[in-house]
Amino acid sequence: MKTEQRGGGLAVDDPRLAERVHAVFDQGRLLALPTETVYGLAAPIDRPDLVARVFELKGRPADNPLIVHVGTWEQARRVVSAWPEPAESLSRAFWPGPLTLVLPRAACVSDAITAGLDSVAVRMPDHPAALAVLRALDVPLVAPSANLFTRLSPTCAADVRAVFSAEQVEVIDGGPCRVGIESTIVGVDDQRRVLLWLRPGMLARAEVARHLPDGWRLAAAPAGADESDPRLAPGRMQTHYRPTRPLHVHVCRDRAECERLADRFQRDAARSLVVLPQSVEQAAGDLYRVLRAADTEGSQTIDLLLPSQRLHDPAWEGVINRLRKAASLWFQNTDRSKSD
Ligand code: AMP
Ligand code: MG
Repeated sequence: MKTEQRGGGLAVDDPRLAERVHAVFDQGRLLALPTETVYGLAAPIDRPDLVARVFELKGRPADNPLIVHVGTWEQARRVVSAWPEPAESLSRAFWPGPLTLVLPRAACVSDAITAGLDSVAVRMPDHPAALAVLRALDVPLVAPSANLFTRLSPTCAADVRAVFSAEQVEVIDGGPCRVGIESTIVGVDDQRRVLLWLRPGMLARAEVARHLPDGWRLAAAPAGADESDPRLAPGRMQTHYRPTRPLHVHVCRDRAECERLADRFQRDAARSLVVLPQSVEQAAGDLYRVLRAADTEGSQTIDLLLPSQRLHDPAWEGVINRLRKAASLWFQNTDRSKSD
């Protein structure tokens, strides 16, 4: 894993990795960090200037808190003020991995990072490069996705370089991201013994629930949470993960309908047709890459076909969640003889 850094390159097996990464930060640049979910735009939690730069470069509103990434359990304990039972059982079951825990924050985590909340979102990414950097620095890093606010998340180094210059960001090329969509986020409510399902990712609810201590239950995000306020409904804004061209999602009743629409759309130069792989792991892994590719084709719309049974398959919850936010139009149970 090397980068084409000006003046040398950044290799994660370099014994002087910490020094080199600090040099990047001292130049006022951020680090693009490969993780198993998507590439993150990283800054140390103890550098308020660089944390501010993350918001600035992404164009991210200040009321949208950042996830803190850690390389060890000791680092995780440093950024929280409580470590309730499920934090232990869930982190032991899923870390390093695509699960983010929202816990009471420690004083070392600034208001800028948490958007003024008294909780902090923490996760340990499952990628050798991310873990090497976090462990070498021994400072937790904020690392939201390395994309512009509301746009598609980057799943390879080239996606980051297409948006940010070398003057702004040092990219560690860790290859394509294995998971491909952002982490599952859960909130730990110790008083009510409830685990809040805040953002679906690639972990199924049942799988997470299986690792809860006795007496705990999994619940949906707070009822009545306002989707326009990311602090009340984190990661649940309606518009997110968008290509620049309108994405139209067409839910097909059966295979015959999918084939009929595919045939029609393929012959229509105004549309770029997208069909996701059958396997949900592959579909998530490919999602942002295929949307990005379709976005460059010069058509008027991106048209994605989605077999209806996926909507009710718990394994597909994360992918469907991203599609709903990315889509400008969602065709379902419509009379297509009129709409097309
Ligand atoms: P990302 O853009 O993938 O880094 O995701 C960050 C998401 O985590 C955002 O949608 C936040 O709203 C959510 N998040 C971060 N910190 C907190 C927190 N303290 N409480 C609840 N959600 C959080
Ligand atoms: Mg993001």
